[in-house]
Amino acid sequence: MAKKTVRDIDVKGKKVLIRVDFNVPLKDGQISDENRIVQALPTIEYVLSHGGRAIVFSHLGRVKDESDKASNSLRVVATRLSELLNQNVIFVPETRGQALEQAINTLKDGEVLMFENTRFEDLNGKKESKNDPELGKYWASLGDVFVNDAFGTAHRDAASNVGIASNIKDTVAGFLLEKEINFIGGTLENPERPFIAILGGAKVSDKIEVIKNLLKVADKVLIGGGMAYTFFKAQGMEIGNSLLEADKLDLANELLALANGKIVLGDDVITAKAFDPESEKHVRNVTDIPADEMGMDIGPRTIALFESYIATAKTVVWNGPLGVFEFPRFAEGTRSVAQALTEIKDHATTIIGGGDSAAAVIQFGMADGFTHISTGGGASLEYLEGKLLPGIECVDDK
Ligand code: ADP
Ligand code: MG
Repeated sequence: MAKKTVRDIDVKGKKVLIRVDFNVPLKDGQISDENRIVQALPTIEYVLSHGGRAIVFSHLGRVKDESDKASNSLRVVATRLSELLNQNVIFVPETRGQALEQAINTLKDGEVLMFENTRFEDLNGKKESKNDPELGKYWASLGDVFVNDAFGTAHRDAASNVGIASNIKDTVAGFLLEKEINFIGGTLENPERPFIAILGGAKVSDKIEVIKNLLKVADKVLIGGGMAYTFFKAQGMEIGNSLLEADKLDLANELLALANGKIVLGDDVITAKAFDPESEKHVRNVTDIPADEMGMDIGPRTIALFESYIATAKTVVWNGPLGVFEFPRFAEGTRSVAQALTEIKDHATTIIGGGDSAAAVIQFGMADGFTHISTGGGASLEYLEGKLLPGIECVDDK
């Protein structure tokens, strides 16, 4: 069902509550990756240019006791937001109370206010994270309409998304949430074919539901990364010291049977004697992995095979690196597949969902070569699993 967006409501003169996901990584108190702030700008700018009063808020990190407050304040984010918007952002270091209410009620059209980390409310009984009904109702009372643009939080049922939505008349999606719904949700519903899914990462157990769901809709599911070895072992091969989830062997066989030829694993790998960036690398057939070596990456024939599927694909969803890309020597499979995807961007839809896969292509300097890189780690994983996300469900249907 299509969701209402900020384009569908009148924001002029209104107090517009905007839930963003500004849960950015901080290093020594500085923002080390501002992508999530940049991605939220279109919605905030739209509200401002249409005469709305923007009340922006987010969670940041985890807040378990008083001492977490100083290192998880959104003040530094408010400062950066102000620079990016090129206008003043009024920062209120509270999550409730008179000072906040007064600042909101004196806000003028076209002005921006940001309040403190919603998870400061977790100190008194996880009110934010457990969607305490009183808290959602209170925050809803501060505004006239609610724009949810926090895709990275969409898999959570929190006071600052679902709680507000249940206590306010209009809840609409911001442009980032809309983009994620269109690209991930839209692709799963109605992909242009051939539709290829590429799955990697460390563990089968993390990706079972994603594999199952993508097997339903994709034409081929290419599997690499650490989880491939459980599939090799399930087929009777010896995998040396490669990653193995012994309790998932039956499941791997079930998935292979269910896949009916859709799963593609390749037939060669790159191995090493130690999980070490300096460890010497060897190209091995999957049937010849020595007992004292471990699989670190997909091999050259497998890369070529994956590339041949990619070359003719019209839609590709990629979740999970194909090798230990953090070690340059074992990044070749991940890099080659990323490169092949950038080459089809002109005539295909290419989507990356997954924190580490996104980090890999950013590290390779290829981020511009994809149709869409999801801003959600956990949220995109659950979305790919086919789950309904509370942060999307709570938005009004069109
Ligand atoms: P994403 O965040 O994109 O969903 P995951 O978190 O599932 O990806 O997996 C990422 C991790 O998988 C990376 O840290 C990478 O080093 C690891 N990995 C990939 N291939 C292997 C392998 N062959 N052996 C061990 N770890 C691997
Ligand atoms: Mg990860």
